[in-house]
Amino acid sequence: MKDGFAIFDAHTHLGEARHSGRSCSADRMLAQMAGSGIDRSLLIPFPVVEDYRKQHDVIAAAVRAYPGRFAGAVCLNPFLPRQEFLDEVRRCVQELGFCGIKLQPQYQALNPISARSDFLFEAACEHKIPVIWHTGTGAPFALPSLLIAPARRFPDLPIVLAHSGGSVYALEAIVAAGVCPNIYLELSSLMPHLVLEVMTHVPASRLMIGSDLPESVDAEISKIIGLPVTDDQKREVLWGTASRLFGQ
Ligand SMILES: [Zn+2]
Repeated sequence: MKDGFAIFDAHTHLGEARHSGRSCSADRMLAQMAGSGIDRSLLIPFPVVEDYRKQHDVIAAAVRAYPGRFAGAVCLNPFLPRQEFLDEVRRCVQELGFCGIKLQPQYQALNPISARSDFLFEAACEHKIPVIWHTGTGAPFALPSLLIAPARRFPDLPIVLAHSGGSVYALEAIVAAGVCPNIYLELSSLMPHLVLEVMTHVPASRLMIGSDLPESVDAEISKIIGLPVTDDQKREVLWGTASRLFGQ
């Protein structure tokens, strides 16, 4: 809790990253959460890893060890052999209890408007888990408007635009969410004035907070708590939307 608000961080990374050299353990994440007032975090593997099964197992162990504090999401190279990809998604959901699947197009250049990306969205539909799509850096496949196509092909599938397009494409994310009721926006990295712009167009019931990286946690929380919006809106952004989507 922070200032009376429960907080569900819908965008964090646990494990080890090959591309950046970053690493984060469950204990370090818990200490960060305690210091910042975060009640629950969605743990996502980094996008470039040595062994994706091991990274998923590390997250699963954290979820098991600290009930209620963590939820897990799948992230793996979409260009693996198709069956290998689908088998790992199934293992993560059915055996490890994960509740989302993330794609990072800066490192995993899948085109969301092509039917060749259907397998990922179909897997999410089959397992009833939201897709989380990084947006912003990594254009063209990270452009928010491109997610309108799969959101319409799969109207019952929640699609979360991580970073809401970032500062440059935030307005495009607003348009995408405006035309697709199954598009949700995660607000990490947006400056407060852009979050306010988002909130004038998109209901708080489709918005959620994320930290992405430990250095940003306190800034991401205080930027929401400090907004001139209602406490009900803040409660949705800080907890309600993510707790409904990631169902725990
Ligand atoms: Zn991230």
